Amino acid sequence: MARETVIVIDFGGQYNQLVARRVRECNVYCEIYSYKTDIEKIKEMNPKGIILTGGPNSCYEEGAPTYTKELFELGIPVLGLCYGAQLMMHILGGKVEKAPVREYGKIEVHVDQTSPLFTEINETTICWMSHNDYISQAAPNFQIIAHTADCPVAAAANADKNLYAIQFHPEVLHTLQGKEILSNFVRGICGCAGDWKMDTFVETAIQEIREKVGDGKVLLALSGGVDSSVAAGLLSRAIGKQLTCVFVDHGLLRKNEGGEVEQVFGPGGQFDLNFIRVNAQERYYSKLAGVTEPEQKRKIIGEEFIRVFEEEAKKIGAVDFLAQGTIYPDVVESGLGGESAVIKSHHNVGGLPDFVDFKEISEPLRDLFKDEVRTAGLELGIPEALVFRQPFPGPGLGIRIIGEVNAEKVRIVQDADFIYREEVDKAAAEYQKANGAEPAWKPNQYFAALTNMRSVGVMGDERTYDYAVALRAVKTIDFMTAESAEIPFEVLQTVMSRIINEVRGVNRVFYDLTSKPPGTIEFE
Ligand code: GLN
Repeated sequence: MARETVIVIDFGGQYNQLVARRVRECNVYCEIYSYKTDIEKIKEMNPKGIILTGGPNSCYEEGAPTYTKELFELGIPVLGLCYGAQLMMHILGGKVEKAPVREYGKIEVHVDQTSPLFTEINETTICWMSHNDYISQAAPNFQIIAHTADCPVAAAANADKNLYAIQFHPEVLHTLQGKEILSNFVRGICGCAGDWKMDTFVETAIQEIREKVGDGKVLLALSGGVDSSVAAGLLSRAIGKQLTCVFVDHGLLRKNEGGEVEQVFGPGGQFDLNFIRVNAQERYYSKLAGVTEPEQKRKIIGEEFIRVFEEEAKKIGAVDFLAQGTIYPDVVESGLGGESAVIKSHHNVGGLPDFVDFKEISEPLRDLFKDEVRTAGLELGIPEALVFRQPFPGPGLGIRIIGEVNAEKVRIVQDADFIYREEVDKAAAEYQKANGAEPAWKPNQYFAALTNMRSVGVMGDERTYDYAVALRAVKTIDFMTAESAEIPFEVLQTVMSRIINEVRGVNRVFYDLTSKPPGTIEFE
């Protein structure tokens, strides 16, 4: 089945993935390719439209990323964004040079509402700008369809050929009507029907898996994270008992997490598959005994995962497919978008197991963004608590315990973390109930970590010498930068007193105020 596709050609802009996500929010399927991709390949895909992204270079400089002029002669609508717009003008005979005034941030743009790109867009609208160069002269046969106080060509169009160039970034949320502008392009100008939806994705994916796998056997390492869980759900719906999932409990999971995974995917759960749980806690703790260096800890945890997985795989024998929860950002970030099969080094693994005997890789989620994976998960009936779980590092609590890891410290951090999440969730839910909206302080990620600091305290008139727990809560959109969240003081107080009272071995609680950068979200 040919699906309507829009292609994003990536010139190294910061927001390239956002462009594709916004297009998909218009229910149009979209893929990202490097500007190095041969035009023949683009033609083969028969896209309904092409979008050129922004990028750090100046298109008039030698060696700057470019593309063949033929792209604009295919009869396919093209939208250039920022660098992409400048490049389009440059290639087609316009002029791009260093701007006398650079624009950065939210800028008022005046648009020509009669252009199909700006249908239903306000005459004056706020857009996100980030450029040093500007289009001083549009290419021949292009009309100027937007300007700002400092930028005479904020958008230009050759409507007969469906070529559009815009200096601002519609994909960034600061551009107030950005989504409408992109929708005008893909739905209006490219004429896409917009029938890319998650329920059709799930159905189609199930069909495709059945065709590809036939009566073969599939093996999947289930980590309990969102991606591998959704992959497991999808594969199970498609091929049932031909799927075997190996779930390694390394003893560094959050409190009750192993049980929750088993409840969903284990015997008696809602999915039909072979489920193998390996309780490798002791094995991990003994490998980790005495190890304090963070990178070494990560390495041991990753390597041990491969060993355990291999041992299980050997018991199962040869399989036809090794499945992985690779998702689209992994594909794009590996720099190989669509050009060849990419094998994600599993976040738990750090490489593929050498000994697993398989013929092919199966990556049923490799076309999806994270939020789409979640929607697919809900579609498959995976419980919300699992689908919306917080990001959790592959090495688990191992990197939320500073210094040596042992069973006792794992217990402390599990219990403290559980209390903390419970209280934050409760306070957020109460706020939501009272105000009909989420509190502004609601963090995107929040957890407890165990510092390696012990200090003197007094409890029940007796001296204590116990550990300090650190609470972390951050607000972040992209997980690349983050701010410490302003959790109300009374919530933190409740958490503190519950942790001190309920968790043996803790006599102090700290709140981490550090933003990222300079801090990281995790501790080690
Ligand atoms: N490098 C170009 C400029 O400075 C384009 C910037 C961009 O694409 N955001 O104008």
